[in-house]
Amino acid sequence: MSTEPFVPRALNGDTMGTRYSVLVYLAPAMDAQALGRALHEAVSEVDAVMSNWKPDSDISRLNHAPVEQWIELPEGLIHVLETALAIEARSNGAFDIGVGDTVGRWGFGPGANKTRQGMPATRQVTRQALELDRIERRGRKHGPLSLDLSGIAKGYGVDRLADVLKRRGLGHWLCSIDGELRAGGPKPDGRPWAIGLERPVIGKRELSGVIEIGEMAVATSGTYRHCREIDGRTVSHTIDPSTGAPVARKPSSVTVFAPTCIQADAWATAILVDGSWPPRSFVPPPEIDAIVLGEEG
Ligand code: ADP
Ligand code: MG
Repeated sequence: MSTEPFVPRALNGDTMGTRYSVLVYLAPAMDAQALGRALHEAVSEVDAVMSNWKPDSDISRLNHAPVEQWIELPEGLIHVLETALAIEARSNGAFDIGVGDTVGRWGFGPGANKTRQGMPATRQVTRQALELDRIERRGRKHGPLSLDLSGIAKGYGVDRLADVLKRRGLGHWLCSIDGELRAGGPKPDGRPWAIGLERPVIGKRELSGVIEIGEMAVATSGTYRHCREIDGRTVSHTIDPSTGAPVARKPSSVTVFAPTCIQADAWATAILVDGSWPPRSFVPPPEIDAIVLGEEG
């Protein structure tokens, strides 16, 4: 509990085709505008490096580079790629950033093709086809790869927002990008943040419950948003890499709790592919926990 007076501030803006939002309690003397600028710069940099929608982003450069050619990569991207490959291995491939082409074939993402369906002819194991060199800060592909960071970049962006807040010694904040969120300490009066859990129903926004968090990250992936109809079937933008087809279960959602948002985001996607908690197809790391909801809540 803190006795200092605090002023609550909301700082938000556009990023990654959606919104970021930061709720923070500041000492009255603190310059909220400078903080807002630093937060905006942090997420804008992630977007410029990791967006598949931007042809000149670093991830797009790596995607378009010839096989075997080393490409210089920024530190943050190496971290995200290394984390993605580690989670790919640990989840037995349920999380796989190599799904870019497949996502497009099912009509999602920047390469969306609304007519073609199905999986690409060949399937690579992403962690074998992508080589990273942390010392020289570069990467190269050993085969054609279509990397897609949409299942992990928002979580990383939230962690970058958290870094900005922590570096300034702030201890009472909640930051988010489109539902992926992270809290740094409780509110100044010691109460936790209350987070609404949405019921996974297509086209409706209903609450299924409320959870309270102090210091942790939370991310949700669901089959009930970002989905489209194909032959009367609802398909989601999450791909099961073992089949190359979208996860086509009844509307459901997975909410993951983790120390960092990059972990929460990626594991939410992996557990949605698996479909249950605890997962049937892999052993999750001990630091994460999850709630899986069906339509009935
Ligand atoms: P949201 O963007 O709704 O938060 P997710 O975090 O679950 O959703 O990410 C879904 C996105 O990740 C998809 O749009 C696609 O670009 C990519 N993706 C789809 N399937 C996978 C997968 N199995 N592993 C990694 N990324 C995936
Ligand atoms: Mg995700």
